[in-house]
Amino acid sequence: MLILSQSDTLYITNIYLFIELLFVCFVHIFCDFLHIIYSIILFTVIYLIKEETAISKFRIYIVIIAILLLIISFFVYLKNSISSHTSHTEVLLGTVVNISVYGEDSKQAVDEAFDIIRDMESKMSINIKDSEVNRINDNAGLAAVKVSYDTFEVVKQSIEYSVISDGGFDITIAPVVELWGIGTENERVPLQNEIDTVLDKVDYRDIELNNPYIKLKYKDMKIDLGAIAKGYTADKIYERLKDMNIDNAVIDIGGNISLIGSKSDKQPYDIGIQDPFKKRGLHFGKILLEDKTIVTSGTYERFFEKNSVKYHHIISPYDGYPIDNSIESVTIVSVDSTAADGLSTALFSMGIETALEAIEGIEETECIIVDSNKNIYLSSGIADFRITNDEFRLAE
Ligand code: FAD
Ligand code: MG
Repeated sequence: MLILSQSDTLYITNIYLFIELLFVCFVHIFCDFLHIIYSIILFTVIYLIKEETAISKFRIYIVIIAILLLIISFFVYLKNSISSHTSHTEVLLGTVVNISVYGEDSKQAVDEAFDIIRDMESKMSINIKDSEVNRINDNAGLAAVKVSYDTFEVVKQSIEYSVISDGGFDITIAPVVELWGIGTENERVPLQNEIDTVLDKVDYRDIELNNPYIKLKYKDMKIDLGAIAKGYTADKIYERLKDMNIDNAVIDIGGNISLIGSKSDKQPYDIGIQDPFKKRGLHFGKILLEDKTIVTSGTYERFFEKNSVKYHHIISPYDGYPIDNSIESVTIVSVDSTAADGLSTALFSMGIETALEAIEGIEETECIIVDSNKNIYLSSGIADFRITNDEFRLAE
């Protein structure tokens, strides 16, 4: 059995600490000032041990244990600080997307979220030539196209919002959207006969679903998922992050916001609602939310003005013109972002009274409507909302 004398033990401790010191100093070079400080402490202890001064061995062991606890706490701190929060912003889906995740594996979670967005964009963008949406459009009147679960699901739900809005929400509006070109360099007020020609192709009842095939019944029909696919994408990300046991995250797809949990201080998020008369970022009200989704459709999003008339991007399938029913914006608060995105546009098309009636029959879903006179209409279940711009008032 190996018996170690006291000086041997000290010698080994010495060596151990010295190696530890090298390792810890190496790591510390990449950390902040705090860690340099306790490397100096470590040097001092080594020096004390080496000189074998009269200080009692007991006290040296206490110092060593304190240092070891510091090292352990350092690694715990390092582990948490590396994984505690990741935020990333990119332009995708024609808008600014920001995903912010708190907790373990936050970097991986953000990476997976952006993979989902790219995947949805590749399937559902009308601006990507070989997307599933454009394959459906290219085969209109000719053949049914086999699509992914995601695209089929979004088209199927779109039809549900067409029914709820009596055709006011209609993804076959694409040819009319293209004719106006709002938000592109070709935006213009089309001639009436041009509108009449393309309006003829708009009718959600001519979308034939035979899972997983989709067919547009007539030639030159086209679908545009701009009014609902961002919400669906947000839901896909929400599900993936929940599967990864993420408890706190903000998914912001061009203002289509989904929240997982509350803020890291356990307080709800205080979400500003865009003032439809001002540039992006200015709000007329705020609402406290956690674990909910909030989506707004508004005239401010994409529009142009001609002869002091404002032409915005939410088009009526009835007359082919931007919807003019005194609504400026519709905000939906829900637990389902696909529904919130579809309903924000659907309710916009329905007009204030009909929209307020319809929302009361939809579970776990509330709305905030603003009209052109800055009157605010709230559905009965809206809570924790406050007006932040005194030009606005609750409608009587
Ligand atoms: P919403 O009210 O939710 O939707 C309005 C949009 O829906 C309009 O822009 C039009 O596209 C369509 N729409 C208009 N009237 C109706 C109606 N009555 N019923 C149903 N739909 C209607 N933008 C780009 O500039 N470049 C891109 O490459 C691009 N790619 C995209 C890819 C995807 C998958 C998606 C979902 C969107 C993309 N967009 C792109 C943005 C898109 O063109 C819309 O402008 C945007 O989604 C509007 O969303 P919103 O929430 O502001 O408006
Ligand atoms: Mg929408």
